[in-house]
Amino acid sequence: MVPLATIRKIEGICAKFIWHGGIHAISWEQLCRPRKEGGVGLRSLVSVREAAGIKLAWRFLQGGSLWSAWMSSRYLRGRNFWVCEINNNFSASFKHILRNRPVLRKAIRRKMREGGETDLWLDPWISGQSLLEILGPQTDGAAYRGLTCRHIISGGVWRPEEYRFTAQLGGEIRQVQITPAVLTDVWVWAPPGSTEGAGEFRFSSCYDLVRSHFDEIEEYDFIWGKGLARKMQLSAYKLVLGRMLTRDRLLRFGIPVPDPKCVLCEIENESIGHLFFQCHVAWSIWAEQSRKYLGGVGRERDFREILKWIGDCRGQEQSWARRARLRLAASVWHVWRERNRHIYEGLSTPPVGILHNIESDVLVMSP
Ligand SMILES: [Zn+2]
Repeated sequence: MVPLATIRKIEGICAKFIWHGGIHAISWEQLCRPRKEGGVGLRSLVSVREAAGIKLAWRFLQGGSLWSAWMSSRYLRGRNFWVCEINNNFSASFKHILRNRPVLRKAIRRKMREGGETDLWLDPWISGQSLLEILGPQTDGAAYRGLTCRHIISGGVWRPEEYRFTAQLGGEIRQVQITPAVLTDVWVWAPPGSTEGAGEFRFSSCYDLVRSHFDEIEEYDFIWGKGLARKMQLSAYKLVLGRMLTRDRLLRFGIPVPDPKCVLCEIENESIGHLFFQCHVAWSIWAEQSRKYLGGVGRERDFREILKWIGDCRGQEQSWARRARLRLAASVWHVWRERNRHIYEGLSTPPVGILHNIESDVLVMSP
């Protein structure tokens, strides 16, 4: 198991590489979110490491290998895996396996045949819980200790009656499916919300189990919609997150800029809000296209409002909205490029030339 500090160092090197050693405009954690949740879908090595730990615990629980048999006889010595306390004499990897039990439990389900391999009292076989957990440690479990579920299965049917469980618990037990098709009782891989794999371990669903989850972003189609060029995806992504390095932000980072003014209009200070739609030069570029191709201009000079306006044009076909979003993303990229050419190369293109360039790009992306 690679130490966490080393993993963090590797992630730091990756992040430096992505940003060419400059300002990290977007945090590594943010980039590692799925695209739908505001990232670019990189895998977090910290979560990969965690998922690998769960995989190891799963392999141990599955048994059937020399390694698991050896670990089991050396450390468990007949004790139940789910309640065995962590002992200082255990190897680091076995301690790691035991520490991963709570997460592992969320991802597995017991498939029963005759109940002979399932501990009635200690194994979590009733909707992921054990009888011990359901009845509580204050309950005297003497009547159940050492028994397997076979004691309450007969002829392929649950018979919990003789233990005088409450009606509710008896009902829950009867809900546990008996699967005659399996050879013995087995654990199956069944993380919540995942349908892939049919009980077989899948690293992707394991990763999904351990990673952090976030709300879905509304601008997903704008950034990652079909056909959009990669360079434009990145500028749209940074725009949505508000991370473009405009002059106001550079100043905030303590980086000197010769002039805080917007190079397109040379009137107002450059900010993300200004540069793309508030600026009269940029706005003229967007408004011209909007009138010509989208049958009007949204009232607000803000990309979220424009996206909302595009989404609200319900009468239009899906392909119309897709093209409109492509056009918007292309405009953003071209305005950004014009700004950079102006600053770094001393070049400038009149709005009509920029419009022409947007036109040819949209044509290529949306045949
Ligand atoms: Zn301006």
